[in-house]
Amino acid sequence: VTWDTSVVFNRLENDFHVLVIMYDISDIINVKQMQIDFLRNASHELKTPITAISGFTKTLLDGAMDDKKSLVEFLKIIDQQSDQLASLVQDVLTISHIQNGTNYNYKPLGLHDFINSELQSYKSMTSGNHVTINNKIPEHVEVTADTTTLTRILRNLVSNAVKYNRPNGEVNIEYTANDSFWQLHVSDTGIGIAQKDISRLFERFYRADDSRTKQKVSGTGLGLSIVKEMVDAVGGTIDVKSQRGVGSTFTVNFPIVEDDDQTGDKG
Ligand code: ADP
Repeated sequence: VTWDTSVVFNRLENDFHVLVIMYDISDIINVKQMQIDFLRNASHELKTPITAISGFTKTLLDGAMDDKKSLVEFLKIIDQQSDQLASLVQDVLTISHIQNGTNYNYKPLGLHDFINSELQSYKSMTSGNHVTINNKIPEHVEVTADTTTLTRILRNLVSNAVKYNRPNGEVNIEYTANDSFWQLHVSDTGIGIAQKDISRLFERFYRADDSRTKQKVSGTGLGLSIVKEMVDAVGGTIDVKSQRGVGSTFTVNFPIVEDDDQTGDKG
């Protein structure tokens, strides 16, 4: 516990009073430390893609452009690094958006087609390790959802399932439902997650050792904390099942929204 104190001296005739007020400022210190960590991590993560983008652009302009093979190769790197940059910025914006409260716009949507259209924009995600993403949701499935929330949750889970996969691995997206919830499952054939990490995955900036050191997979450790906050905000839950070296399944339980409260401010 960290204390801050203020002392007040007061002299009343011949009596001398000392008043000591002590404040517990641990929470303030913790928040400050989190903000410092956040900025340090975010700056590092911003610098990495910016350095790559500017480095490869300069190399191209300095003449590498004349060689068709280098041109294509470098442009691919620039493309990937821009995506990484965009996703970090999106993460940070999403955090402040969630913290400021969110307006939801629930509407019915065909889940199969919605996922397919999302997958169109994930193409560059899979180019590195040639992972195949399978949309296994039957065509007739309809859910009522806020598409912004759903897009962000899906993008984070699928991007992890691709990043922490083996080369030529698979990602499967599935749907189930019961009376109160519908479930979105994102499973992969990747590195899996150690039991000791599972309980900490949803903390801000937490990255399991494997991804940070051995695998050198880029990331901010923000994705799953955002997913958890968004899922909590819509009254859902999220579970993980994983086996090292076999793969992981993330399941989001979304409450089934009644027609009456399809639109509204839940923030
Ligand atoms: P990031 O991917 O930016 O590191 P996340 O918050 O999305 O941050 O994930 C936190 C950590 O959880 C990752 O660093 C990784 O160690 C682990 N992780 C997340 N998804 C998976 C997955 N599908 N397979 C294996 N590990 C995962």
